[in-house]
Amino acid sequence: MSKTLQAIRGMNDILPEQAPLWQHFEQIVRDWLRAYGYREIRMPIVETTGLFKRAIGEVTDIVEKEMYTWNDALNGESLTLRPEGTASCVRAALEHNLLFGNPQRLFYTGQMFRHERPQKGRYRQFHQVGIEAMGYAGPDMDVEHILMGARLWKRLGIEGIALQINTLGTSEDRARHRARLIHYLEGHQGLLDEDAKRRLHSNPLRILDSKNPALQEVISAAPKLLDDLDEISLKHFETLQDLLRVAGINFSINPRLVRGLDYYNFTVFEWVTDQLGSQGTVCAGGRYDGLIEQLGGKPTPACGFAMGVERLLALMEAQGKQPALLVPDIYLAHMGEQAQRIALIAAEHLRDAGLQVLLHCGGGNFKAQMKKANASGARFAVIIGEDEVNAGVVSLKSLRTQAEQVTVPIAQVAALVQNSVD
Ligand code: ATP
Ligand code: MG
Repeated sequence: MSKTLQAIRGMNDILPEQAPLWQHFEQIVRDWLRAYGYREIRMPIVETTGLFKRAIGEVTDIVEKEMYTWNDALNGESLTLRPEGTASCVRAALEHNLLFGNPQRLFYTGQMFRHERPQKGRYRQFHQVGIEAMGYAGPDMDVEHILMGARLWKRLGIEGIALQINTLGTSEDRARHRARLIHYLEGHQGLLDEDAKRRLHSNPLRILDSKNPALQEVISAAPKLLDDLDEISLKHFETLQDLLRVAGINFSINPRLVRGLDYYNFTVFEWVTDQLGSQGTVCAGGRYDGLIEQLGGKPTPACGFAMGVERLLALMEAQGKQPALLVPDIYLAHMGEQAQRIALIAAEHLRDAGLQVLLHCGGGNFKAQMKKANASGARFAVIIGEDEVNAGVVSLKSLRTQAEQVTVPIAQVAALVQNSVD
């Protein structure tokens, strides 16, 4: 006996019952992006491994243990399924000279891949909507991105998402802070886990991002980057806060927010909910002024954010924000060879008029067909049998009310259905 075939753990099918929620979300997202003037860019799902190593950083969770990487057997190159979109987006912008004298507001959507332990809200294939603004030094653009988030939550109808912000300063700030942090952590070596010990000298800032509960005490008493900021960093952060107040956006400062990728500086932020258990960050982003130059471009300030679509959909479901069920207008039942031919043409005619029509396929008597019509949720049944064929009409029956079935020429059906409130 052959084994049942199964999808890869943590890589989910989106079934027909779930698709309307995805489509509803995608529709709102498209309109929302247009409202802010962002243009779509579509990048390949596979890139060279080196791109992610250079962009995200060698000593990060993503690059150290979460990437799907393999050697292309045909040309020997190391390739990786994209774990995030910013690196590819910057690569594409540079490759096609999009930034030549032009700042860009871009977005992308699609699958990302990370080899994580699958659990609710954490998958190995998941979806992001990502936004990147390149060529903007901010903090006005940082605020635009935060305002975008606030507006999207409202349009999706979800509540209870709070904004946390922090600043990572400049690379000089981080160098000063790094020295202080290493000194502090060396004094607490005994309390560190394996990851933390390994990162102590390579990427100590990353230790602050650890999710290990045993480390939280050491982390919370560690020196704060905020205390190592120079004037420019402080000014950027203060202006950001001013503009958020002007825009009426509530926020809290989380000095432990460092983000899991190395390319950030100045502003970082996360939108967080307590309604999804421990996978509570639905959207995260910040400024990455050094990345474009690091990937071979001219120095160009930039910032962006990405949201986790599965987590937002889970929140919409939890808060009862599913879209209304989409049902066909008409189920078209027919019996007999001649009726079948007429039904085929009638269904096309009704679709020409803008209606959604399920044409019965596969034979069966009228009783069985009407059962399917009712199960489909359609508002009306159009019935074509021998009598209708002979009289050159169709029967129209409401499936929602007790209204009398009527017999009319096919040309009248669309208007009757469109004007009916049933
Ligand atoms: P986390 O701290 O939850 O691991 P992250 O910092 O690794 O998140 P980012 O790289 O900032 O996540 O990705 C942006 C968003 O994408 C996250 O806020 C989250 O909503 C979503 N996301 C990240 N990883 C996953 C995953 N494995 N499954 C589902 N959604 C994810
Ligand atoms: Mg992660």
